[in-house]
Amino acid sequence: MSETRATQGARAAPGPYEQMGVSKVINAAATLTRLGGNIIPPSVVEAIVGASRGFVDLNELQLRVGERLAELTHNEGAYVTCGAAAGLYLGVAATLALKDPERFRRVPTDPPLEYEVLIHRAHRNPYDVAVAQFGVRLVEVGQVGPRATEEPVEFLERMHDRTLAILYVISGWLPQGAPPLERLTAAARCAGVVVIVDAAAQLPPVENLWKYTREMGADLAVFSGGKDLAGPADTGLVVGRADLIEAMRRIGYPKHGIGRMLKVSKEAMVGLMVAVERYLRLDHEARRRRAEEVVEYFVRELGAIPGVTVERSFPNEAGQPLPRARVRLQSALAWLTPAGLVEALARGRPSVEVLPAEDGVFLNPMTLQDGEELIVAARIREVLAEAQRTRSVP
Ligand SMILES: *Cc1c(COP(=O)(O)O)cnc(C)c1O
Repeated sequence: MSETRATQGARAAPGPYEQMGVSKVINAAATLTRLGGNIIPPSVVEAIVGASRGFVDLNELQLRVGERLAELTHNEGAYVTCGAAAGLYLGVAATLALKDPERFRRVPTDPPLEYEVLIHRAHRNPYDVAVAQFGVRLVEVGQVGPRATEEPVEFLERMHDRTLAILYVISGWLPQGAPPLERLTAAARCAGVVVIVDAAAQLPPVENLWKYTREMGADLAVFSGGKDLAGPADTGLVVGRADLIEAMRRIGYPKHGIGRMLKVSKEAMVGLMVAVERYLRLDHEARRRRAEEVVEYFVRELGAIPGVTVERSFPNEAGQPLPRARVRLQSALAWLTPAGLVEALARGRPSVEVLPAEDGVFLNPMTLQDGEELIVAARIREVLAEAQRTRSVP
């Protein structure tokens, strides 16, 4: 909390956004990349500034930062990439570099690869292009919908000696259908197939930093550095098997080759490391209580508006164990669509970003800074009042 206040105090002087006339956004949506990810806390900013003040050997820094991150997250190894998506790409690349080094060397000049990465049909998502982009065939298995068995039968049937890896995605917005991760990792290990978990937004809870790898048997897990970790938005954290992490170090930036364009600055490496240190120290229980208070405030404040009902919704869209407020527009306001409300709030001053629901909008306390909930509630009141007066979206 005190860090948040310090950030707000520092805002009094005109910052770069004010100077450029780029409108600032109050983020009641989520740690969305298109809104800048997250606010970097002062302690992390300080570490970034410190890192900017001298030259270092980047290979040595990547190694030391990785060792520290591995220790902090109770993993065999850790590696900093320029985002979770880049972590998926390099994870698959490292898997090939270990399994078939000769074929790996020919990747840039001899595409496409004969190797496959399996993904459950329910896990297809806009980020999996990062894996296909490496040149492997992304092969869908299984069906969307309730499972008949926990056994990963569809994966067992499809795995063969050209199966490089399985991409397993964890998120609150995916449909049902995939087998449990523990069952899949057990089967994959027998077949010598690597399991890479896309857990980009699976923080909190903080235990997830070691759960997928140490407890559930995944070979690698990939987290976004710019979401709840509140590190630089252009960082990602890969944790897991020492040999795969070592292979990532061999092929990733600053080495020449396919990893060279996935640049990670010394500031980003140090920034992510300090962000993880801070995240492990955070009072997550106090944060959860604060989120509940903000949701209760929205329920009380906005629930009093005629034509609107507000309730607590849990967990949030990423599946994180934090509440959101769900604002429903009743039939009296049927002519005001959720998309219309989202747009009116985004266009207003100050601009407020929220995510649409089927019949209204979600308000997420996670990305709100202290006091901003008052502005969000006031803007929603204004938009609804104006809409009611004119029977159209203002
Ligand atoms: C956000 C997200 C990503 C991408 O993370 P970046 O750090 O922005 O590259 C990948 N997968 C999932 C499921 C995500 O939510």
